[in-house]
Amino acid sequence: MLTSGTFLNGLIHIGEKNFGGGRAGEKAAYGITEQLVLLGFESGRMKTGTPPRVDGRSLDYTKMEEQKGDETPDKFSFLTSSKPLAKQRSCFITYTNQEVHDILRTGFDKSPMFTGRIKGLGPRYCPSVEDKIDRFADKDRHQIFVEPEGWDTIEIYVNGFSTSLPEDVQVKAIRKIPGFENVKMFRPGYAIEYDYFPPTQLFSSLETKLVKGLFFAGQINGTTGYEEAACQGLMAGINAHQSVKKLDPLILKRSDAYIGVLIDDLINKGTEEPYRMFTSRAEYRVMLRQDNADFRLTELSYKLGLAKEERYERVKIKKQAVDDIIKYFKNHSSIPEEINELLLSKNTSIIEHKQKYISILLRPQIEITDLQKHVPEVNEFLSKFEKEFIEEASIQMKYEGYIQKEQLFVEKMNRLEDVVINDYFDYDRVKSLSNEARNKLTNIKPKSLGQASRISGVSPADISVLMIYLGR
Ligand SMILES: Cc1cc2nc3c(=O)[nH]c(=O)nc-3n(C[C@H](O)[C@H](O)[C@H](O)COP(=O)(O)OP(=O)(O)OC[C@H]3O[C@@H](n4cnc5c(N)ncnc54)[C@H](O)[C@@H]3O)c2cc1C
Repeated sequence: MLTSGTFLNGLIHIGEKNFGGGRAGEKAAYGITEQLVLLGFESGRMKTGTPPRVDGRSLDYTKMEEQKGDETPDKFSFLTSSKPLAKQRSCFITYTNQEVHDILRTGFDKSPMFTGRIKGLGPRYCPSVEDKIDRFADKDRHQIFVEPEGWDTIEIYVNGFSTSLPEDVQVKAIRKIPGFENVKMFRPGYAIEYDYFPPTQLFSSLETKLVKGLFFAGQINGTTGYEEAACQGLMAGINAHQSVKKLDPLILKRSDAYIGVLIDDLINKGTEEPYRMFTSRAEYRVMLRQDNADFRLTELSYKLGLAKEERYERVKIKKQAVDDIIKYFKNHSSIPEEINELLLSKNTSIIEHKQKYISILLRPQIEITDLQKHVPEVNEFLSKFEKEFIEEASIQMKYEGYIQKEQLFVEKMNRLEDVVINDYFDYDRVKSLSNEARNKLTNIKPKSLGQASRISGVSPADISVLMIYLGR
């Protein structure tokens, strides 16, 4: 498995200076790209950047706005052994201003971005500060998030001030930001260029098409970001294991998980700029919720030998609890005397006759917690269940119509996924395909008609032609 991040021929830029490195203070890795290219791989160049790190003790926080953490923070894990954060440190907000921008502009003629020394394309969604003042010249200020790096450090991450301008320009400009007048800079911001391998050279398992048993994950595939890298590492790890054990690869569908969306996008569409996972990239957002990640994936993980018994058992308990709650709301009714006061207070029409709790809950003005607080019978029933289970049941009831609609759509699309295309299919034989579709299909070798339909340049007309050809 290759997970080389920004290290392959990594080149760090600070103003006119540039030097080899994988990250600040670490050596780049040379020779790997070249060996892969000799094997027939295509490589490309991307860039990313980072802001200066500063000494938190040198900042004047009275000139900034405090940004407290969430009052009731959520947590990633579904296990009860992990607790939400009890202790948090605040972040702060301050802003750049015209003076800061003017000073930054004095460095533009030495900026590797503007002089063309940086060839790789950077992430559109995390532009450097010089990029922002150039692209959004009408804005007279930009937000800066002042973020502590952790509990045991005085180091501060100056989020929003990513830059590769000369160090002296960075220092002069940053000192004009309110609160930063006396700042002590530990490390300047920099940009880094590195090699990546266009991910259309991979199967959905993240195994490379050219070399059996070789898997790529993370930034080497053209992504950027912690979660993007972590999920690919997990999938490549699982699939390397499956491959060694001669088992089928684990492929998550676009309707199973954001991981499925990310890998499917990468291998079918490729990416020319650092790829980040956005919820907007997923077409099945009603189903891909964080509250049901355990329902979607824990059983799969358990069967692979990853999730422990304890985790799997908890999912089963949650499923049963959610079913019980939904059954109760579908089978029990509220009477006018019991509920009308609540309905009035929430500006929604009162009821004349008995009505099932579920139909009251479907009103947008009413939350399950309202019924819990207001109706003793509901409260008594729900008191047996954990808050997380009650929330899950509420989501499933309130959005049932949308969830079902999406489910039907997924089933329709999955029928295309079931039409298998073998690796040796000769697209040249299908004369009515467009030339672009023929080239892309031959290169990418989709495993199914569904995958073929998502390749950029393959039109619905091409899919119809293939469908007929494949006897559907
Ligand atoms: C300064 C900086 C700040 C960032 N901030 C954020 C952020 O706030 N949020 C976010 O989501 N993302 C952030 N990112 C991006 C994120 O860190 C990366 O996208 C992600 O870590 C990539 O993961 P990876 O596993 O692909 O590579 P990396 O995490 O870069 O890991 C690559 C590893 O490969 C090792 N390696 C390289 N060459 C060799 C070799 N020849 N032999 C053996 N080992 C080798 C390296 O030592 C390193 O441990 C930041 C990146 C940088 C550089």
